[in-house]
Amino acid sequence: MLQVEKIISPCKRKIVIKWSDGKTQAVSAVKLQENCECARCLQKDKMIDPNVLILSFSIKGRLGVKISFSSGCQSGIHSFNKIRSWLKEL
Ligand SMILES: [Zn+2]
Repeated sequence: MLQVEKIISPCKRKIVIKWSDGKTQAVSAVKLQENCECARCLQKDKMIDPNVLILSFSIKGRLGVKISFSSGCQSGIHSFNKIRSWLKEL
């Protein structure tokens, strides 16, 4: 099963995920914010600040990663399955 080995945030504009199959994936704060499914983000019309920053993040087991954004969004859990699916788009 594909797992996340490590997540780092080299700057506040992205996270970088190292997957157990050796692939590395960078994901921007904007992309994560656009796809956030927390109650707060689902309520609002999606006006994504292009300068949104990642303030902190924590890994939630194998499910996903919880991220606090400078926009005030902080309760969304961003599923690893979904994040990984973006890698295939490339
Ligand atoms: Zn959100």
